[in-house]
Amino acid sequence: MTDTLNSKCTANQLISSTSSSSLSSSSSTPSFPTFSSLSKSRPITWKELKQHAIQNNPSAELWIALHGKVYNISTFASIHPGGSIIYQYTGRDATDEFDAFHLPRVQKRLPAYQIGVLVDHPQILPITKDYRELKDVLWKEGWFDADWNYYLQKDILALTILTIGIGLMVIGESMIVRVLLGGAAVGLALQQIAFVAHDAGHWGITPPKAGGGINWLGWFHGVVCFGVSIEMWVDEHSGHHAMTMRPHEDPQFKYLPIFLISSKELDRFHELSKVEQVLAKWLVPFQHYTMIPISMIIGRFNLHVISLIYALKSKKIYDVAGLALYFAWFGGVVSLLPTSERLPFVLVAYIVAGILHIQLTISHLATNSFTAEEDEKEQFFAFQCKTTRNIDSTHWDDWFHGGLQFQIEHHLFPQLPRHNLIKVKPLVEKLCKKHGIEYRTTGFFNAVKECLSDFRRLSSFIGDLVHPHEIMPEKCSSSV
Ligand SMILES: [Zn+2]
Repeated sequence: MTDTLNSKCTANQLISSTSSSSLSSSSSTPSFPTFSSLSKSRPITWKELKQHAIQNNPSAELWIALHGKVYNISTFASIHPGGSIIYQYTGRDATDEFDAFHLPRVQKRLPAYQIGVLVDHPQILPITKDYRELKDVLWKEGWFDADWNYYLQKDILALTILTIGIGLMVIGESMIVRVLLGGAAVGLALQQIAFVAHDAGHWGITPPKAGGGINWLGWFHGVVCFGVSIEMWVDEHSGHHAMTMRPHEDPQFKYLPIFLISSKELDRFHELSKVEQVLAKWLVPFQHYTMIPISMIIGRFNLHVISLIYALKSKKIYDVAGLALYFAWFGGVVSLLPTSERLPFVLVAYIVAGILHIQLTISHLATNSFTAEEDEKEQFFAFQCKTTRNIDSTHWDDWFHGGLQFQIEHHLFPQLPRHNLIKVKPLVEKLCKKHGIEYRTTGFFNAVKECLSDFRRLSSFIGDLVHPHEIMPEKCSSSV
């Protein structure tokens, strides 16, 4: 983490220092650079690096630049414990993304893949230098160490709310108490569990074993308690963090044909299938009306369906078993009610748990969206701040937001435990102020209002773009 070999000058120094450091340990005889050390210090230009992006040249070796050094990840990419997201960074400098998602110890594994050093890296922005400095300090001072007592309290809170919900279902004398209040409490417990699953999924509570492995804490909270495949979630969520709000590519904000989240999505609208284009024509004009109901009602059921498909397709037995356990315990809870009240109860519980989806979307909608080239120019800190929004909270309602209210800090330091997000907030605000970057924060309801208003603005764009006679000529011509 202390390696900051980013400038041309430093990279050149590296060439000589790497050569000299690889000299024989014997001080009594003259020694020479080995073939291996020379190959690791081969000067590589930015242009050459770009030619090794999978997007530019799928048959070329896959290279990636980290801290001024270039690595050949052709053989490693397919076994990367973090999944396929690594391919997004081939031919790029992924220093900040790498540091954000890996423990410092992972750096020790890199030399085996090093093939050279970058000699003409584009300018590292002052904000990027300050951000890296802050991150190094946070690691040195132990900010990334989780307080297990804090997370135990979060689990106890969720379990307490769940117990209250089940209690209301069992002793409630009216349907309103059993279905509405009981369902709302169970839904709230699910929402709280999902927040812990999110933190665990980021390895923010327990660090991963060397080389990866199954995230059992994430599995328990995400799959068994919440009913979502942790493998699928980690894959999608890592993509979301890496390509936040990128048109057509952020896996958690790929909403077309239902929602249009940015006018930049229109540039690649033709890439959608004909059916999707027609659906977008009919659905997007109403997106400011459908955003909340779809997010809250359909979002949760959709997660179950895609989780099951993902777990079965990928043959992850532990994911399938975890989902079976979820449906067993949740089904058991539902069965406490008379048959006629079961479906309304599930709907109430899932709608309340669906608040989570609103919380996720308002953290990013109506901000900025950047293409891959644009986000590379912005560099990590600015890119993450500009695509993210914080939600104002107080000591009393912090629990309700589950850490998502510090979305900017979370995106800058995804592995930082939830209890430290609030502490790092003033430091991030200070950096934003110093470098003239907007620090976007607002109240929950105002954020919903801003997002709906932006959805209304975007809803009119699709009508101008999509003409059924252009995308479905056969049918339209016959009707003329
Ligand atoms: Zn996250």
